[in-house]
Amino acid sequence: MASLHKPLLLDIPFDHWDWDEVPKYRREQVRKWVFEKGFLDWDQMSNLPKSLKSDLSEQVDLSPMEPVKVQGSSDTTKKILWKLRDQQFIESVLIRATEGTKGVRASRLTLCVSTQVGCALGCKFCASGLDGLKRNLSTGEIVGQILLARNEAGRRIDNLVFMGMGEPLANLPALIPALDTILSPEGLGIGARHITLSTSGLVPKIIELASYPAQIRLAISLHGGDDETRKKIMPINDRYPIEELFKACEQFIEQRKKMITLEYILIKGVNDDLKQAELLAEHANRLNAKVNLIPYNRVDGLEWERPDIEQVKLFHKTVAEGDAPRVTLRMEKGHDIDAACGQLRLKEIKK
Ligand code: SAH
Ligand code: SF4
Repeated sequence: MASLHKPLLLDIPFDHWDWDEVPKYRREQVRKWVFEKGFLDWDQMSNLPKSLKSDLSEQVDLSPMEPVKVQGSSDTTKKILWKLRDQQFIESVLIRATEGTKGVRASRLTLCVSTQVGCALGCKFCASGLDGLKRNLSTGEIVGQILLARNEAGRRIDNLVFMGMGEPLANLPALIPALDTILSPEGLGIGARHITLSTSGLVPKIIELASYPAQIRLAISLHGGDDETRKKIMPINDRYPIEELFKACEQFIEQRKKMITLEYILIKGVNDDLKQAELLAEHANRLNAKVNLIPYNRVDGLEWERPDIEQVKLFHKTVAEGDAPRVTLRMEKGHDIDAACGQLRLKEIKK
């Protein structure tokens, strides 16, 4: 039975798993069970002596969460609702895409990971922020989503996007050690190029992240071409207006020599006029950034809507013709299963 009084094994970096009188090779066996096989249950670790398993289970909890609902299908988008040890809910989304060139098609699996229960930043269109921030996730709860979602998928996860519930940069103390474990070949061994962190624009934290050694990718949730438009839907813009945000981005890019992405959700009548498209193209040129356009996913109880497909296409064309370095239009695959993060949890806690 999970107890909140016991620490979580995954909250401790595995090179610090330091149990009295437990030989190193035993720790190595546990590491393999956890990270290579994804077993978060002492009973399944068949090469450990019973007495050791019972000792260790007295000291630490293995599983940070359990799946309480899985929605969707394995060939497109699968959304998993997790219950944490303190009965809070978070969600992760598995997204399968087929890509490739010259007849070689490969199926890539991306996991969208949460970093907080709720979110303090209160973007007006977002389900995650509706009830404010409940708490930060711990390192183990971040890593646990990936281990357990990998079990759920039954295959390796190719890409990680920190675009689930919460603002990743508001939880750097837990996220950085999680990234260390995710990146390490002895941990999850996912390459930095396959990891994207999305932020609504916490300027000082973008600068802090710039000195993190691994080359993870950064995406900025822009959602407005000028301050006036952006502040209507993103209160964070009052603290860090666009110019300040872009200066931090420039510093990040200068330090990292890596392209960033500007994410732009399209909301009908709010930020979808072509003036905004022109501004967005200008910004993308200035930062030499990719642009990712995402038509808005409706959230129950909120007034916002996605624009008509014609307007979406026109907006896309205008940004592309403004010579933005690269523009993609992402039609949300899981629209029909509440794929925008935060929505499944919202339904669960409103029951
Ligand atoms: N807090 C971070 C990461 C989580 S949100 C951030 O804001 O960047 C990940 C992305 O999903 C953001 O770009 C966010 O604006 C977007 N998003 C939130 N609600 C959405 C919705 N209903 N439809 C489409 N995108 C949404
Ligand atoms: Fe928080 Fe991101 Fe949602 Fe804004 S969009 S409320 S920052 S999770």
